[in-house]
Amino acid sequence: MRLLLLILFLSLLVIFPSFLYLNYSVIQTPVEPPLSRLEIDNGPVVMPHLKNSTIKAELGQSSWKLLHTMMARFPEHPTQDEKEALRSFIYLFSRLYPCGECATEFQAILAKHPPQVSSRETASQWACAVHNIVNKRLQKEIFDCGKITEKYKCGCDDEKIHKS
Ligand SMILES: Cc1cc2nc3c(=O)[nH]c(=O)nc-3n(C[C@H](O)[C@H](O)[C@H](O)COP(=O)(O)OP(=O)(O)OC[C@H]3O[C@@H](n4cnc5c(N)ncnc54)[C@H](O)[C@@H]3O)c2cc1C
Repeated sequence: MRLLLLILFLSLLVIFPSFLYLNYSVIQTPVEPPLSRLEIDNGPVVMPHLKNSTIKAELGQSSWKLLHTMMARFPEHPTQDEKEALRSFIYLFSRLYPCGECATEFQAILAKHPPQVSSRETASQWACAVHNIVNKRLQKEIFDCGKITEKYKCGCDDEKIHKS
């Protein structure tokens, strides 16, 4: 009986500290710090290659339409927050553009030609210029950026922007 109690006591001596240690190491497991907005904006391309050239072209036409129209409706005198929102959008767009190889090329363009977000005019001209860089690489016609406001209408003459 004494021997049994001794064995029980000794095994408790071993089990109890190891249980404490396990709990401690779970608590101590380092939690990864959250990424900063800058790290998220400047991360690598997320999407895989897009092989289908028809889908690639359709996606390109729609995306350029979205980008140029966004610039045409961007405030003439944006606040700091609005400027940062557009800059962030463009960098995230370059990460998440659904054609991976296009996104990689676009990130290289952004590295040389960072988004210009100080006004509607500068943003529109910047988008036109980067589109022309892509056009040149794909051996497409170069667009006259002097005609950008004719082509992409703001459409906001008689509207108020609703801000909550
Ligand atoms: C960010 C991005 C990167 C891309 N990268 C690639 C790539 O690496 N490889 C690839 O195969 N495809 C890529 N594409 C798609 C490609 O740019 C075209 O959209 C696609 O080839 C279809 O071309 P498109 O001739 O119909 O005219 P698009 O280039 O799609 O242009 C649509 C219309 O916009 C007008 N336009 C043309 N140039 C300008 C300009 N500079 N400013 C304003 N308006 C203009 C014209 O009226 C034109 O018809 C990319 C698209 C985007 C948005």
